[in-house]
Amino acid sequence: MTWRASVLTIFPEMFPGPLGMSLAGKALAEDKWALEIIDIRDFALDKHRSVDDTPAGGGAGMVMRADIAAAAIDATKARTPAGTPLLYLSPRGTPLTQGRVREIAQGPGAILLCGRFEGIDERVLEARDIEDISIGDYVLSGGELGAMVLIDAAIRLLPGVAGNEGSLAEESFAEGLLEYPHYTRPREWEELAIPDVLLSGDHKKIAEWRRAEAEKLTRKRRPDLWAKYRKS
Ligand code: SAM
Repeated sequence: MTWRASVLTIFPEMFPGPLGMSLAGKALAEDKWALEIIDIRDFALDKHRSVDDTPAGGGAGMVMRADIAAAAIDATKARTPAGTPLLYLSPRGTPLTQGRVREIAQGPGAILLCGRFEGIDERVLEARDIEDISIGDYVLSGGELGAMVLIDAAIRLLPGVAGNEGSLAEESFAEGLLEYPHYTRPREWEELAIPDVLLSGDHKKIAEWRRAEAEKLTRKRRPDLWAKYRKS
């Protein structure tokens, strides 16, 4: 079964966007994953195709209506394999991690609901068993970029998508560490040399150096990851 991303949005023209390029785009053209875009406005009830209304209780902005969002979700779910997670991109969600991306990549795909305005009527989030996912502690103007981030991270883990699958095993977060530094030619640049060990040809020493650098970097930049790594 092909891994499938179903994206619910009011800006369908934003897709595939960057997902149509490079590694993701090539894999999409080769049917290694599939992308379905659902225009939430197709489920609107009026001739203006409106999907939002003013917030109950007053205040700034608009809110996406529960009935319209639910109709779009239900129509999408009806043609999606059972077990496909239904995800709402939201700054209030659980922060996305490589571990969650790995789980999503191992499943049949994902339904991704992109919010706009002040967000979506809370009732639909409760009534449809939706998992809220955040891509970071900042506020975007819509969920589409978040959906693209999640899809990009997932599809590069699908079999046959990344050119060099060996590199996936060593990259950042694979083992709970940030990745070690990389170098390439020229051997010396602006009086900065490539560390000798990397030119030694001694694979054991190179592996040890890389592990030590990965640990040093993680300890310095990400004490949260370092604490978890030490525990495990
Ligand atoms: N009023 C909301 C709040 O304060 O939590 C922010 C709404 S934001 C302007 C509009 C939409 O962008 C959200 O419904 C969500 O889909 C998306 N979004 C914004 N920040 C995000 C983030 N950090 N991660 C994922 N999606 C985000």
